[in-house]
Amino acid sequence: METDVGPVSAGAPGRLGRVALVVEDDEDIRALIVYTLETQGFEVFAVGSGLEGVAAVRDRKPDLITLDLGLPGIDGIEACRRIREISDAYVVMITARDDEIDRLLGLETGADDFIAKPFSARELKARVNAMFRRPRTVGGVPRPDASTQDAHEILTHGPLRVDVESRRAFRTDEELVLTRTEFDLLTELMRAPARVWSREALLRSVWGTDWASDTHLVEVHVGNLRRKLAAGTDGSTRFIRTVRGVGYRMELPD
Ligand code: CA
Repeated sequence: METDVGPVSAGAPGRLGRVALVVEDDEDIRALIVYTLETQGFEVFAVGSGLEGVAAVRDRKPDLITLDLGLPGIDGIEACRRIREISDAYVVMITARDDEIDRLLGLETGADDFIAKPFSARELKARVNAMFRRPRTVGGVPRPDASTQDAHEILTHGPLRVDVESRRAFRTDEELVLTRTEFDLLTELMRAPARVWSREALLRSVWGTDWASDTHLVEVHVGNLRRKLAAGTDGSTRFIRTVRGVGYRMELPD
């Protein structure tokens, strides 16, 4: 474990593996997370406050960040907001209690996943594995049009366009700034635009889990994605329709 966050390796151009940053002020929990991630092959950096966390994101460019909610100085929510301005890493927010997750889901934290203390190393491992499976999964659904000659999968839906390989999304010519989770969610929906997706199916496809209690996570990220897809329009533009009692599907705005 390393705690210095000097600028020496900013950008880490030659790095080989995945980098994780642990932002946690409780030493025992920090040690558990660091150990768990190291056994999963991450190069792990750890810091004990939100401000150090933001600085370390800038310097280390992590692929994964675990972020404690209760931190000295700026809290996890504020740290996440600042991190989101400079990084699209997967963020797992760690909360002290289960019931905090409901409150957090009501906020636009920018976190990709939430986990409540106490959690086991096994649980953390499962969540992290699920997250890193995502960019490569297609939710068990065969890619309909990704031929071997053309690895460049482009999905379109009205004015929306998703370039799957370069992980860029556009509305008409405007590039959308999406988090990884939002991008994965949009890609999944656009691969089968006529399908009505249940929250559970999206959870399996996008998050790679089927913890039924996490369907709130889907609702929150769909809400955030919707806002971003409609940003700058008159606000009535909807691309994702809620199918009452079932889930979601894509729709074309009028
Ligand atoms: Ca704490």
